[in-house]
Amino acid sequence: MKNFLTSFGRHLLDFAYPDICVACENRITDTRSAICFECQWDLPRNTNLLIHNESQENKFWGKVKTSGIYSFLRFTKGGKVQNILHALKYQNRPELGIFLGKLCGKALKDQHLFLHADYLVPVPLHRARLRERGYNQAGCLATGISEILEIPVRHDLLARNKSTLTQTRSGGRLSRYRNLEGVFEATETAPEVLRDKAVILVDDVLTTGATLEVAATALWKTGIRELFIVTLAAVNRS
Ligand SMILES: [Zn+2]
Repeated sequence: MKNFLTSFGRHLLDFAYPDICVACENRITDTRSAICFECQWDLPRNTNLLIHNESQENKFWGKVKTSGIYSFLRFTKGGKVQNILHALKYQNRPELGIFLGKLCGKALKDQHLFLHADYLVPVPLHRARLRERGYNQAGCLATGISEILEIPVRHDLLARNKSTLTQTRSGGRLSRYRNLEGVFEATETAPEVLRDKAVILVDDVLTTGATLEVAATALWKTGIRELFIVTLAAVNRS
């Protein structure tokens, strides 16, 4: 993942976000990481096998075929994981995404999950959003995971056609799904690369699952053999 920041920009950023842990907002002594040691130790990780985690699987039940879903961290409102996700998206911290991707990759490796996959494919941002943010947080996560699992990342196989989604409050899941239809599309080169391959789709957070469903559907149309889903965090429905 190309980091578009110049070193000058990076220094400005250091000034804007001085040595503060993105999770707990305490000062950090080792500035090599955006998350302090205590928080790294203390992250609410999903350490058990989550392939058949009930609450996650239910979100996809009957919607999209997947051999496994793994979410590295448990999201709680107002908690550290929420702070981390916010920093990853809005504080211009692509390196944080790569760092977290590596942690997630280690967890996958330790649990022997999805290790035979052929490619990592991040859920893409719309071009305009990518220009504005400078990086795709899901792409940074995939890059970190890739470094650990040694599975190549492909940023060029899935495209996002619409930048914003009109999420309806009423109407339920079906109308939300219709809203998302056509948002993601496999690129022209995708079928050739992905035919009969096992793919890990990567995103930052699993909430309703609607986005991942639509992205996964676009991937299945390319003729993939198997699909896994990995997210940095998941919101538990309860
Ligand atoms: Zn901390």
